[in-house]
Amino acid sequence: MKPFFPEFSRKNFRALNSLYPLDIFFFRRKPIYVHIGITHRCSLSCRMCQIWKTGNAKEEMSIDEFYLLAKFLKDCGTISISLGGGEPFLREDLAEIVKIFIKKGFIVRILTNGVTSTADYIEKLAKVGLKHVSVSLDSLNPQKQEYICKKSGIWEKIIENIKLFSDILPRRGSLLLINTVVSRLNLEELPQLVQFATRIGFFISFIPVEINIYNKEFKISSEDAGKVDRIYTLLILMKKQGMNILNSTRFLQESRKFLKTGDISWRCDAGGLYFSVNPRGEISICHQYSPEGSGLSSNLINYLSSSRFLRKRLKMMELCHGCMRPCWAEVTYMIRDIRSFLELMNVYVRTYQRRGNLVNPFDIISELYAKSKCYENFTYKPLI
Ligand code: SF4
Ligand code: SF4
Repeated sequence: MKPFFPEFSRKNFRALNSLYPLDIFFFRRKPIYVHIGITHRCSLSCRMCQIWKTGNAKEEMSIDEFYLLAKFLKDCGTISISLGGGEPFLREDLAEIVKIFIKKGFIVRILTNGVTSTADYIEKLAKVGLKHVSVSLDSLNPQKQEYICKKSGIWEKIIENIKLFSDILPRRGSLLLINTVVSRLNLEELPQLVQFATRIGFFISFIPVEINIYNKEFKISSEDAGKVDRIYTLLILMKKQGMNILNSTRFLQESRKFLKTGDISWRCDAGGLYFSVNPRGEISICHQYSPEGSGLSSNLINYLSSSRFLRKRLKMMELCHGCMRPCWAEVTYMIRDIRSFLELMNVYVRTYQRRGNLVNPFDIISELYAKSKCYENFTYKPLI
């Protein structure tokens, strides 16, 4: 589906950007997006992630504390939240938590590994008003996915749950998303993942992997620069042609540069336009930094809007080595870059155009196996 807004030249976008009012007048220093890690427990122990090691049910917020946090975020001016983890479906009271935030008027999205949810529980979430969900999927090759997540038998479960979310959440207005961590292991496969997401009515978001001492095998080497160029240029073209890629063109361009050179040049607004909340309800500017205080009492609000905190966070950002997390960077682009804003609006309009029943994702995968070079010699047979 073609974008609904006309194509502008680069020069026109630059001119429009200089007039773009969102940054200056409305949202400056308001955390419009907040990520809440409601638990650090997880049903998986993926190779590129350490968070599951810190899971502790005893330290997690109670339902009463979620009410306090929702009030705090409303008072801060937050519009949109994501409930992630760890794996949020490990909290038996997830539907209650979702209901608290929806009733307060937030746009709510759940980030899940797609392994732990069940049809009954998704029904329960739909009843309390959940519309938006992101499911992690790094490969259409089961062995590869299960290698990354260090658990066998999960790939089919993820695909089945993708179908369940699509069948159960409302047809119109739901943003159904696949989150894919981009690494050396799946770089070649990204265009096929875009085709898969588009054919089943999902959008896809690509997250360049963050390399640490545990996941060096995921690193894309400098010899692969040509491949990165080719694949990301194709992704940008696919987005232009209307395929379901959530990332803004700007983010894809920036990711291409980052994966080739390690350079990061986007301007971060952590602690201003976005925050992170840990399972205890403590607020930090983003996932990398220690908490500034508790979001369960209103005392922190004055501090967060003070010039003392502004100076502190600017200093932190100066020293930060940077990251390429779309959840943060895309908010900055949405507010500071008019093209990215229009591209996002285009995505939301298209979520209201989703009609008909979901095609069987396993059929689409079989077609892709037959057509795509990156699955050559691959013999998986879907079970249904
Ligand atoms: S599913 Fe997510 S939170 Fe859990 S181990 Fe994997 S990457 Fe980490
Ligand atoms: S660039 Fe640094 S401060 Fe900004 S979100 Fe990423 S890790 Fe946090």
